[in-house]
Amino acid sequence: MKRAVKDIILAVEGLTVSFNGFKAVDDFSMYIDEGQIYVIIGPNGAGKTTVLDLICGKTKLTSGSIKYRNKEISRMKENKIVQVGVGRKFQTPSVYESLTVFENLELSYPTARSALGAIFFRRSDDIVQAVKSIAKEIFLEEFLQTEAGLLSHGQKQWLEIGMLLIQDPKLLMLDEPVAGMSVAEREKTAQLLRKIATGRSVLVIEHDMQFVEGIADHVTVMHQGKVLSEGSIERVKNDPRVIDVYLGH
Ligand code: ADP
Ligand code: MG
Repeated sequence: MKRAVKDIILAVEGLTVSFNGFKAVDDFSMYIDEGQIYVIIGPNGAGKTTVLDLICGKTKLTSGSIKYRNKEISRMKENKIVQVGVGRKFQTPSVYESLTVFENLELSYPTARSALGAIFFRRSDDIVQAVKSIAKEIFLEEFLQTEAGLLSHGQKQWLEIGMLLIQDPKLLMLDEPVAGMSVAEREKTAQLLRKIATGRSVLVIEHDMQFVEGIADHVTVMHQGKVLSEGSIERVKNDPRVIDVYLGH
């Protein structure tokens, strides 16, 4: 049965970008459903991060299309793409180290956009409630008054996810969210992502196969800018082409 367009939150078709003639992403397509955890894996240099750069508007495509809820977003400015509901976390955490966990989350709340704005901003109950509820979700409720610089690397990653969540994106994109995390932190992150995906879609780039197995509804393997294989984790894990170029490395 053909899927209804309304069930697809992001449709990427024929996505291509060349850097001085080199196609980092080459005729790449994918369809992410509402509520789905969609994982992209692939060797270094495959083009995974560039796909996120293209979706969030940081890099402009050479050809192809990117539709969010059936609306073309590939020509929109980065901030506009955030406003329509696409949040993106970069590979390295970028939290304000000298501010507390509370302040980091508060600054990310949609009505308090700039640091200057936040100084003159009266803390309403709504914001306090939102900050507390997000802090609980990201396992940092006991750390609200802790300076972000004192958190572990994994806790900083969670804080940054929280800073995105407080803006309530409908599609959350995470580039290697468990890199540098302990085993226990990875398990908690898997739990967090499953919770986040109730009511929104999550696009994750990840290397850790065990982590991918625990969260993925759908896996796409990228190689040399193209889709090499896709489907369930079981399917791609057993695909000889994947074993050859990726797992064999
Ligand atoms: P991955 O995230 O899968 O490891 P990337 O998307 O970071 O791969 O990179 C894919 C390829 O594109 C690499 O060869 C990289 O050097 C190249 N690349 C990425 N961004 C740019 C850019 N802005 N200019 C030139 N080359 C780039
Ligand atoms: Mg990358």
